Amino acid sequence: MAGRKLLTSPNGGFPRVADLPADTGWLPLGTLDGVPAWGAAVTATGDVPGRWRSWRALAAQVPEPLAALAGRALQVVTWRRGHRYCGACRAELADVPGEPARRCPDCRLYVPMQLSPAVLVAVTRPGPVDELLLVRHSYGPTELWALVAGFVEAGESLEAAVHREVAEEVGLDLGPPVYFGSQPWAMSGPGVLLAGFTATVTDPAAEPVVDGRELVQARWFPLDALPEALPPAYSISRWLIDAAATRATG
Ligand SMILES: [Zn+2]
Repeated sequence: MAGRKLLTSPNGGFPRVADLPADTGWLPLGTLDGVPAWGAAVTATGDVPGRWRSWRALAAQVPEPLAALAGRALQVVTWRRGHRYCGACRAELADVPGEPARRCPDCRLYVPMQLSPAVLVAVTRPGPVDELLLVRHSYGPTELWALVAGFVEAGESLEAAVHREVAEEVGLDLGPPVYFGSQPWAMSGPGVLLAGFTATVTDPAAEPVVDGRELVQARWFPLDALPEALPPAYSISRWLIDAAATRATG
């Protein structure tokens, strides 16, 4: 990796460890098909053969296990870059061999890579054709119609975070959230893990109200007439939207 770009080899896969300089600082990423995988930050980008690509471009083209591995590389290497010194005594941290973790050589503080859970929710309301709530954000890919999402706060359950985010962002009350699935999401920072839910509003007549800061628009769409500008096919946002559309129209 260099910055947030990932190196792919000339044949389109990932480079082999031997392709990079011998002094590269490798971080363990687990295994892919039983083969150990490693990630590293590279500064002299001219010295290595291959092509530098964004995770989004890569994820749109490669099979899901490769996209997930590339996302993990992005998360681990970005985290490593931001955890250089001990937060307790300011000494420079050392890598713990074989783990995505650092340890202070002076005060022994152990610094594991911590995860940041976030939730997203496909909110529907019943009708002749069920309708899905989609929102537009004031930051990020602003042209996309997306789902309500947000970080889980300390001491909060995933379900409570779903209720709070929907109440804060669009002012709607929900029935019980139902778990759908999860996806690590390196685009929102190191360690971000998205947990997807579905839920139905308690009052089908209620309209969403946006705060105008985080969100600029929110509206109901019939599930057989969704907008074109939806999140990409490799994202859990899209998996949730597609599942809702299939349920309503399939
Ligand atoms: Zn220390």
